[in-house]
Amino acid sequence: MKKTIKDYNYEGKKVIVRCDFNVPLKNGEITDDNRIVAALPTIKYLIEQNAVVILMSHLGRPKGQPNEEYTLFPVAKRLSKLLNDNVHFLKDDRVASDEVKAEIDKAKPGTVFLLENTRFRPEEEKNGEEFAKELASLADYYVNDAFGTSHRAHASNVGVSKLLPSALGFLVQKEVEIMGKAIENPERPFVAILGGAKVSDKIGVINNLLDIVDKIVIVGAMANTFLKAQGKSVGKSLVEDDKLELANELLASAKAKNVKLILPMDVVVATEISDDAEFKTVSVDDISDDVMALDIGEKSIKEIQSEIADAKTVVWNGPAGVFEIDNFNKGTFAIAESLSKLDAITIVGGGDSAAAIEKAGLKDAITHVSTGGGASLELLEGKVLPGIAAIADK
Ligand code: AMP
Repeated sequence: MKKTIKDYNYEGKKVIVRCDFNVPLKNGEITDDNRIVAALPTIKYLIEQNAVVILMSHLGRPKGQPNEEYTLFPVAKRLSKLLNDNVHFLKDDRVASDEVKAEIDKAKPGTVFLLENTRFRPEEEKNGEEFAKELASLADYYVNDAFGTSHRAHASNVGVSKLLPSALGFLVQKEVEIMGKAIENPERPFVAILGGAKVSDKIGVINNLLDIVDKIVIVGAMANTFLKAQGKSVGKSLVEDDKLELANELLASAKAKNVKLILPMDVVVATEISDDAEFKTVSVDDISDDVMALDIGEKSIKEIQSEIADAKTVVWNGPAGVFEIDNFNKGTFAIAESLSKLDAITIVGGGDSAAAIEKAGLKDAITHVSTGGGASLELLEGKVLPGIAAIADK
């Protein structure tokens, strides 16, 4: 068990917190502040504990160089609004420096600081020791509240946690507890729904889940590779021809492990991926040479609904079709809605499926929408996340 935020007394102490403020920006304006809002419980708790709070995060990919385009200033402004004007942005391209330290050392308990983008420093992504030491020198404690980067070993997570007493923030604690329970001790039946573009991205997840779940549903372009491996024609659909053998092995492995593997029975096809392409639904046995399968059909949706109806745990990662285009988003939104109605623990992996849940306004009806796409996939793969492993044990 890892130490969590409530395991220390922060009265009058300085706490440096790794957040995930990697928010989308358009012309310098934040278009979605979910990640900032999600960090508030940890920040407010530390303020209430009379700590000096030092927040840090990366934003975008400035490639180890200061770059105004990626300054965290807009985040500081938004955060300040959410925290009654109580956020001081420490604008310094070195992120941590003697001047930054002097500012922090003068602060009264309850003050909140935000450092500049940690990726302005080339050492960040290399987990450089010097940078980690500079960050650690600013505080007495370290809290990791950035799940989205916990699968990376960077200076601002793994580096700092080795130098200070460390703990998981509320956000990461929730991710680890809910996903950890699903993987280690799930309530059954346990169904995984996996979609998205490529089997190759999710081999590790499928392999690991085959030892854990009762059923696995495969949708999206991934399903095409399985259908072709079964000898069906998939026309011009996105397919990984070099993964046909692997798909057959996974099908055999599912059978051997007594895991029901469910593939689409019908698909929405079109000759091109565009808003005005003509489309129709056909059986997976009737995909003609000139079309692409771009979504699952009505029958597949009904089948998935019936397969998950009695589930007690459902994990969903990856869209069922090209959901960016309205004509091919029905399957993805139907899955989102079906999950929201279940009397079960429902977990949605980050990225596209989380965006679909958000867009459908169903977030509150899902047990847990993960804040980290890559990190949640690695947890489902059964991997240890370095940013979490580095936190002190209880
Ligand atoms: P991933 O990043 O692997 O989760 O894949 C997400 C992408 O897969 C989305 O951009 C979807 O448009 C795409 N996708 C899902 N289903 C299909 C499909 N049947 N054909 C082509 N692309 C698809």
